[in-house]
Amino acid sequence: MSPPSGSTKELTRADIIQKADAFLMPNYARFPIALVRGEGSWVWDADGKKYLDFVGGIAVMSLGHAPEGFADVVKQQAATLAHVSNLYYTAPQAELAEELVKASFPSKVFFCNSGTEANEAAIKLARKYGKETHGDEKYEIVALFNSFHGRTFGSLSATGQVKYHKGFEPLVPGFFHVPFNDLVALEAILGMRTAAVMMEPVQAEGGVVMPSEDYLRKVREMCTKKKTLLIFDEVQVGLGRTGKLFAYQQFGVEPDILTLGKSLGGGLPMAAMLAKTELASALGPGSHAVTMGGSPLVAQAGLWAFRKLMENGFLEKSRQMGAYLREKLEGLRAIPPVQDVRGIGMIQAVELNVPARPVAAMCLEEGLLVTVVQDRVVRLVPPLNVKRAEVDRAIKILEEAIRQAEKERGSAPA
Ligand code: PLP
Repeated sequence: MSPPSGSTKELTRADIIQKADAFLMPNYARFPIALVRGEGSWVWDADGKKYLDFVGGIAVMSLGHAPEGFADVVKQQAATLAHVSNLYYTAPQAELAEELVKASFPSKVFFCNSGTEANEAAIKLARKYGKETHGDEKYEIVALFNSFHGRTFGSLSATGQVKYHKGFEPLVPGFFHVPFNDLVALEAILGMRTAAVMMEPVQAEGGVVMPSEDYLRKVREMCTKKKTLLIFDEVQVGLGRTGKLFAYQQFGVEPDILTLGKSLGGGLPMAAMLAKTELASALGPGSHAVTMGGSPLVAQAGLWAFRKLMENGFLEKSRQMGAYLREKLEGLRAIPPVQDVRGIGMIQAVELNVPARPVAAMCLEEGLLVTVVQDRVVRLVPPLNVKRAEVDRAIKILEEAIRQAEKERGSAPA
């Protein structure tokens, strides 16, 4: 396949890395490879080496790389109408909103470009609705320790991990945190001023931490009793990642506000906030906006990707493959550094008692991409349609890397 015009194919890996290090902000701890192409569960670097991609752009490429038909949809829409403004109506945006609502709960949709923006919208809506409905003092947001909601100031203030706050204080006032899975702490903090409780149903960046039995249902009951909105951030675990279309459906607990992102645009930047219909009037004309949100280009891509997810049998097959991946990972528990295996569907993690970054680096060397969260956790978020043989290969590489890490620890000077 010939490279698209403007591609940097002629640059070698070393050229790309040198240029990037010279001109890009140093805010990412990048692995030393330069990727140029992807297909299904695989990506290729500038030197032609291929990697099994269990990162997928961090849970974005749920249908794999370059799925058949995607480029045609994008090309056709780009050639027709890429962007106008939310001052006007466009069909792809309206249609995608309709499909999202029909598949979830009676709600209205706001489109934006990134997960953090979807969460900003959720926070703003919760505050405005709280004030308008219950008075000016109802604006506080209770979020959870170990959570991750994004890097802009509202979402960052909701994020319950000090390491992301460092150097950026002061944060937005009115945010409070309690431990995940602790109903007593939550009940104690909820008050007249709490506009919303905001949480990820599964804490993804926090190390793939699962809610304990009944936790989400009890949170829901508490929120309803205290007239507090419940916001689920499904930016990472929504859209089929857990094996159900939405993670809340997995746990049988419906939020008032739901945020989505990552895979929503099929690989193009797109995110959304869905809020129950009765909340929508709080975001009247002029109250909130984003220039590029839900452009015809990304919405058409999103519509195409969403319909793929909804195809008969797609999620069922993904659930089965998620169970297979989990079964294989369970087999790693016997290796000493492995402390835990956890997750759901196509978001799985292995917690180690050694740093995970060298393990990820060894995996990369052997042709497997994985992410590290919370220093000691290897997280796997393959495409939802990953193949069995690809899972087998990934597990083999991961197992070898963990064994190697154990060996190196054993031989390190005390
Ligand atoms: N919320 C969750 C649960 C996430 O995992 C992330 C990103 O990893 C975000 C929000 C932020 O999304 P974005 O990076 O698109 O702003």
